[in-house]
Amino acid sequence: MRLSGYIEFRHGDVVMENKTTNLAVVSNKTFEAAKSANTHHYDISTALQTTLEFYELITIFSSKIKAMIPHSGMEYKNPRFALDFKNGIASKHSCSYSLTIEDETLGELKLMRQQRFSEDELKRMETLLCCLIYPLKNASLYKQAQLLAHTDPLTKTNNRTAFNDIIEREYKLANRTSNHLSLIFVDIDHFKSVNDQYGHECGDITLASVAGIIKDTVRGSDIVFRYGGEEFVVLLSGANLEKAGEIAERIRKAIACNTLAYGMNTINITASLGVSALKGNDNVESFIHNADQAMYQAKNDGRNRVVKA
Ligand code: GH3
Ligand code: MG
Ligand code: MG
Repeated sequence: MRLSGYIEFRHGDVVMENKTTNLAVVSNKTFEAAKSANTHHYDISTALQTTLEFYELITIFSSKIKAMIPHSGMEYKNPRFALDFKNGIASKHSCSYSLTIEDETLGELKLMRQQRFSEDELKRMETLLCCLIYPLKNASLYKQAQLLAHTDPLTKTNNRTAFNDIIEREYKLANRTSNHLSLIFVDIDHFKSVNDQYGHECGDITLASVAGIIKDTVRGSDIVFRYGGEEFVVLLSGANLEKAGEIAERIRKAIACNTLAYGMNTINITASLGVSALKGNDNVESFIHNADQAMYQAKNDGRNRVVKA
């Protein structure tokens, strides 16, 4: 609710007139409270304009409202973007809000603490949430645009742009934490002949089908990308060369065992795979190059096989 118009002092009371509505009379005390609440709302809204990232928005909101509504922890869930994060400490009492705007769900926010939340605090929380809802809507639009820009429309996997971003991030993370990081290059064998024999549309269906097989074969933590035309890459955090080699072999088998039906035709394809694991002296380029070279080695060795760098 926004109060507009002018303010007139009369015997210690404050008259707030809204040009379009009737006069409302409130006491000085209420007015001070309202004034301070408006300042807070302005402060929170300004802070929330500094980011489009969900996690940062929730963290800022939590810290900004803490003085008005003390809480020990906050939780935010948004299944649409697979977001689920917690700030602070989970406690006995909680209040939850399902955030929706114009039929669009923006997730669920939960505040937690040891003591019960009073009616007054719950009311205050509802007005404070008005500051959060539009920044969350903007974050949602931003996330959708980001996903679109990072997704290959044919295979619904991450695209090359996403690969360039994510490999940099994972490389830095692996170096910082000394965790294993591996890469598998998958290149379909003689794919040109699928297009030549059955047409481009069949080629497209085959590509989408191979992407599905790879996604179904890898672990939940592995990330699949379409690297180029008929080439896919899997980035495996926490996997050493041996583990990544096993997963590559599983992918090879799954592709080779699959039979694709196209009209009256059945199509069997194979793929050649190259695997590399990040070594101490690797940079991102050499890490990628090693997997790519191993894949070419697999081609030269006769295709439908896995070669580890
Ligand atoms: P190799 O075993 O040596 O990898 O042979 P290949 O035929 O798979 O490799 P080549 O590089 O000669 O041909 C790749 C083909 O992939 C040529 C190209 O037309 C096709 N291709 C690339 N992107 C797409 C796509 O999006 N859809 C379809 N249908 N074909 C594509
Ligand atoms: Mg190729
Ligand atoms: Mg190929």
